[in-house]
Amino acid sequence: MAKAREAWDRIADVIVVGSGGAALSAALLAADGGADVLVLEKADQIGGTTAVSGGVVWVPCNAHMAGIGVADSREDALAYIRALSKGSEPDASLLEVFVDSAPEMIAHLEKATPLRMVPTRGFSDYYSPYDVPGAKPEGRSLEPVPFPVGAELPGWRDRLAGRITMPTLGAYTTLEEDLSGHPPDPAEIARRQSLDIRPRGAALIGALMKGLLERGVDTWTGAPARELVIRDGAVIGVRCERGSEPLRIGARRGVVLACGGFEWDRDLVRAHIGYDLYPVSPPNNVGDGLRLAMQAGAQLANMGSYWGTGAMIDPTLLRDGVPYPQFDAARGAPGTLIVNRYGHRFVNEAVPYNDFPRTFGTFDPLRVAFANPSPAWQIFDHRLKESMPILSMQPGAPAPAWVPQAPGIRELATRIGIDPDALEDSVRRFNEHAARGEDPDFRRHEIGLQRAVAPRPVDAPPFYALPIYPGTLGTNGGPRIDADARVTRPGGGVVPGLYAAGNSAANAFGWAYPSGGGTLANAMTFGYRAGRHAAAQPDREL
Ligand SMILES: Cc1cc2nc3c(=O)[nH]c(=O)nc-3n(C[C@H](O)[C@H](O)[C@H](O)COP(=O)(O)OP(=O)(O)OC[C@H]3O[C@@H](n4cnc5c(N)ncnc54)[C@H](O)[C@@H]3O)c2cc1C
Repeated sequence: MAKAREAWDRIADVIVVGSGGAALSAALLAADGGADVLVLEKADQIGGTTAVSGGVVWVPCNAHMAGIGVADSREDALAYIRALSKGSEPDASLLEVFVDSAPEMIAHLEKATPLRMVPTRGFSDYYSPYDVPGAKPEGRSLEPVPFPVGAELPGWRDRLAGRITMPTLGAYTTLEEDLSGHPPDPAEIARRQSLDIRPRGAALIGALMKGLLERGVDTWTGAPARELVIRDGAVIGVRCERGSEPLRIGARRGVVLACGGFEWDRDLVRAHIGYDLYPVSPPNNVGDGLRLAMQAGAQLANMGSYWGTGAMIDPTLLRDGVPYPQFDAARGAPGTLIVNRYGHRFVNEAVPYNDFPRTFGTFDPLRVAFANPSPAWQIFDHRLKESMPILSMQPGAPAPAWVPQAPGIRELATRIGIDPDALEDSVRRFNEHAARGEDPDFRRHEIGLQRAVAPRPVDAPPFYALPIYPGTLGTNGGPRIDADARVTRPGGGVVPGLYAAGNSAANAFGWAYPSGGGTLANAMTFGYRAGRHAAAQPDREL
């Protein structure tokens, strides 16, 4: 008996759900493969977390490295990643797929769109101070050349998301400019602002979007995917909304889930991570991709993992009238230390941001509780406060009322509800060692993000304290994918017609974040492979 044909409101060859780095890479490759592509974005703006990010993409063996005289090899890259992922990766073969495909991905996007990447000079692999083979002093972390959104996408200026968190990094400067200590002069910043020339993640999204528009790809905003349409186990379409209108969209060749992680769904975070996280991403990533993949019977992997960071809350930085989590500030800086609720140090404060919040998940069987319940407290002195901006607090300005301060460590402990004896002991011990530039307890003089910075005593009153929480850039557990980002089933095989990439998929690196740009490189590489593979599939009768 012939199957009844479905009633569709629209049919595309490939439907891409989401509009971050994974999604736009998939959409571009699918369009270049000859597919009619429809992008569905839930938010009113394009770009997701990617658009507000640093836009750094970590690509071992990329073509730009030769230009700055850094040699790289497949072997070095694999040795480096494997030393960090330590077997936590869901599928060891995907590490090789990543290393082989990432340079091809970035070269293709640079050729096919106005995206231009440059190595962030002096930006080493994060684990350079560790005993990890294959690290490089610079060259793998690429950042976008600022993109003139005002000139190139005038009709899209308000529909592309821009920078929000990380107030300590400029919204109109590149990472290299910020790190160099020689930011562009105010006239140049004003020029970029008036012409709407955007750096970082906004440049990445702007350039990819320009490529999609040149190819006539249809992009809907305010169009959340709600359900997959599944026939005989194969994904053949998506139920979505546009405005408030429910629509059924058919997909002749495939559906790519690239709609972020589940960091903004507290129940999912508690179920899989086990403790609350404070996301620094925009609030739309609530696990829709995970639920859709589960609906199709996906095999899940890496569910307890996330891209980590310390998070802080500044009550003066508001989104929709409410304070929202920010990247931590000054963590690991010389005149600082971090203690838990019991007043004890528990971590090398300067470790890479991915690793720091995982220490909040340590269980203490003697307390029958987490050893380091959130929040912990970052303690610092006046010399540090005067040396750098910390969230919205500026050097030279009085500390605002929301930053607890006191003339002595014991008084500070009382103000923040910590045992004064314990905090005093911790600071005294830290200071004794820091006076010699050492940290025998947590090796801060040897290990830190990219380089070790010798600690110095916290001894210049008044003293300050800021709560610090386990934060995330996005979760990275989800459907386990194969080399072409096809969603796999438990027991073997794939879900026909379904792909996943970026934070909607299980991270190919397992728990690891190899270096600055590791999350976007992973998202864009598997998005690239998903789009290319989906476009090459034969049309299915819908
Ligand atoms: C401030 C900041 C700086 C960062 N800097 C870097 C960096 O420099 N380099 C790096 O590698 N990583 C960085 N990260 C992390 C990185 O931005 C993310 O890991 C990455 O952008 C994830 O990309 P994605 O495509 O998977 O998801 P996203 O970019 O989050 O895109 C997902 C999209 O899906 C949409 N969506 C959700 N549900 C639905 C639905 N049901 N239907 C349709 N659409 C839906 C969302 O609205 C969103 O637009 C940073 C993160 C932050 C917060």
